[in-house]
Amino acid sequence: MGDLKQRLIEAMGEMPVIDAHEHLPPEKLRVARDVDVFTLFGHYTQTDLESAGMTQEQYDWLQEPDQPLTERWEVFEPFYQRIKYTSYARAARLAAQKFYGADIGPDSYVDITEQMKAGNTRGIYKRVMRDTCNIQVALTQIGRVPESNTDLLVPILPIGHLTGSGESGAMLHNAAEVGVELSSLADCDTAIVARIANYKKQGVVGFKMTSADLPEAAPDAAAMAFDKALCGEDYDQAALNTYLMHRALDLIGEAGLVVAVHCGIIWNNWNNFYDLHPKHMIPVALAHRNTRFDLYHGGIPWTGDTGVMAKELPNVWLNMCWCHVISQQMSIRALDEWLDLVPVNKIIGFGGDYHYPVEKIYGHLVMAREDIATVLARRVGAGLINYGEALELARMMFFDNPRDLYGLSV
Ligand SMILES: [Zn+2]
Repeated sequence: MGDLKQRLIEAMGEMPVIDAHEHLPPEKLRVARDVDVFTLFGHYTQTDLESAGMTQEQYDWLQEPDQPLTERWEVFEPFYQRIKYTSYARAARLAAQKFYGADIGPDSYVDITEQMKAGNTRGIYKRVMRDTCNIQVALTQIGRVPESNTDLLVPILPIGHLTGSGESGAMLHNAAEVGVELSSLADCDTAIVARIANYKKQGVVGFKMTSADLPEAAPDAAAMAFDKALCGEDYDQAALNTYLMHRALDLIGEAGLVVAVHCGIIWNNWNNFYDLHPKHMIPVALAHRNTRFDLYHGGIPWTGDTGVMAKELPNVWLNMCWCHVISQQMSIRALDEWLDLVPVNKIIGFGGDYHYPVEKIYGHLVMAREDIATVLARRVGAGLINYGEALELARMMFFDNPRDLYGLSV
């Protein structure tokens, strides 16, 4: 079984990968930053450090490269001892081992820092993502279409770029950008259609929303809100936004693009993550049957719920972006259940979900391969699938499924 898992991991290392969700800025922004070992503790590990008792002020100070490195390490180390066994931290440790030759610790942090500074040069995205990870493209959400690295970064935009979140100034601006003058609520449709077409030309493949309790559209209330908004009077922004969200969800589907949905766990602390429960997407998916929804993060911790949703709703896909670094064991359990529940073309196996610490994509990918190999090897061992089928399933989850869902030409 261990041998089988190892063989699968090695075979996966040869497979091309579509990284199905990132927040990577264009490389020039990463290269322009001063980096050090604490860059590897940017993004998700911040929440573990703060959960372990680090203050926000301490964390922010840690991320100031011009402050003395040794002093920062001394503040950091007791917290590191508390978080070093989490999946978040493991991705950082794997990245340090791969690119800077050592696990992160008191004897290595200076050397890792020096190597990181030396290696923070043009081409780092290619070296990490293409050469080391075999990633062909990465779906990327940074709130705009990336101005460079467009061969690697495929944009997904916030859905607010279409709806203006029902805010009158943003709506007028959005409409004007595509040459539409807003005089009635129906003109908003025209503007949204034109914006989707424009973005599509720029390579955008989807729009992202957050799972939340979205009421049914109330066209009359929305029309009244729209008229008041245009007259500069107080208006019901929620009613207008709800209406426009429903229209955008239909129009995105009509254009053949995908709606990506953040479900479940939230990246920073002190939130009620139940507000983002994937169940909120059931009425939405039912109401927009010609639109495809890609549920991010497996809806952790509600992976059983999302599995049944993808089983029963033909327009719902499952995306394991971020999952493997939240918890490898939760990811393994989820995938094992999903393979019982869900047509295999609807499971997307990997998305790094990082921004500046691009090296951690490698750490995350190693963990994803381990998790997927664990599940597949177990199934081969139980006689449910053969080795060739295991390889085929891995290839689908890492490459074919995100390519087909998002219509990527790779
Ligand atoms: Zn994300």
